[in-house]
Amino acid sequence: MTDLPTTPALAWGAATDTGRVRTENEDAFIAEPLVYGVADGMGGHAAGEVASAIAAGTLRDRLGGGAQSVDVVVAAVVEANAAIFQGAHNNSAQRGMGTTLTAMVVLADEGSRRLALANVGDSRTYVMRSGRLRRVTIDHSYVQELVSTGHITEAEARSHPRRNIVTRALGIEPNVRVDTWVLPFVLGDRYVLCSDGLVDEVDDDEIAEVLAANPTPQAAADALVAAANEHGGRDNVTVVVVDVLEGDEPPHESVDLDIDVAWDDEGEAHHERLIDAEAGTADGAAAQAGAAAAATAVLPVVQGDARSRRFGLGSLLFLLAIAAIATLTVTLVLVVRHNANKEPTTTTTTTSSTTSTTSTTVDSTSSIAPSSTIVAVSTTAGLPASSVPTTSGG
Ligand code: CA
Repeated sequence: MTDLPTTPALAWGAATDTGRVRTENEDAFIAEPLVYGVADGMGGHAAGEVASAIAAGTLRDRLGGGAQSVDVVVAAVVEANAAIFQGAHNNSAQRGMGTTLTAMVVLADEGSRRLALANVGDSRTYVMRSGRLRRVTIDHSYVQELVSTGHITEAEARSHPRRNIVTRALGIEPNVRVDTWVLPFVLGDRYVLCSDGLVDEVDDDEIAEVLAANPTPQAAADALVAAANEHGGRDNVTVVVVDVLEGDEPPHESVDLDIDVAWDDEGEAHHERLIDAEAGTADGAAAQAGAAAAATAVLPVVQGDARSRRFGLGSLLFLLAIAAIATLTVTLVLVVRHNANKEPTTTTTTTSSTTSTTSTTVDSTSSIAPSSTIVAVSTTAGLPASSVPTTSGG
């Protein structure tokens, strides 16, 4: 039988606040002996609050006694996803609701103790070890993709106008891809689970300073929430801090954390969408429309831009191709008439230079211009070429 620890070697503290701008707090957290988590809800008319509460409640119910394997943790997250998705479809006022979730669960299997982490969305789990703060989770967000591809810096991401766009959340699709990690109990590790209301206001260096200055986890959680509010408190902010009191001796501080992510895909095709976490939080009349907007995602804007730009270029090139054909036709008519007047040498030069110009234009655009256009142009260009040798040979 599995031996779940009755007195886990963890100490923890948690704090949440509405912030200085919002009127409601749509974040939720879990802080129990064997399971911890932060959920950042999205959706209008308190639907976000419903979504984050479902996520927190499901994890409490399913993982309150810890878990025997990562699969059990993933199953709980998948269940929460389904419950939110179903709730959104059953109640039009909650349509489009969703939530992020970052969670840490004590794994107890054959007496050995480890920690399982699970993440969906842009809430984060950090670990402070040997005085160094390291980010474990990878944000599922539009700005994270811009950072990963080198388009913007971490600092720019924190104030980017589209920093609220998440690419994964619970409750948006019937299936969800859950990132997971398994980490050992390491003596002295301090975990920080938080919503983006913290990280958008307080950079990693300052988070590390606050953690170092506050020995107890509750004091650290309170101080981080206070720091977010001092920096503006533009969003709900939630922080759970968990200290590991027993475990392996920490590796040398130069050793990097092994934080390779594992994915679970529920065995079905999954496509990521962009979800505007702020779309549903506007007050007043816009809120309900916002909830629907959160459901339908913002991704098409990006793709739409690219597509319309491509269409514009394609149209231009198509017109150029038509113009080229017209030019060639006129040239051919002149060539034929000229040939009839028995002046072969000069006309050959004119024709081939026109032909080569035309084919260069078409080649450079062959990936965009309709292939039928290319065929038409080359056919037109080919006609005089076959007739030319006869004349030039004579
Ligand atoms: Ca948030």
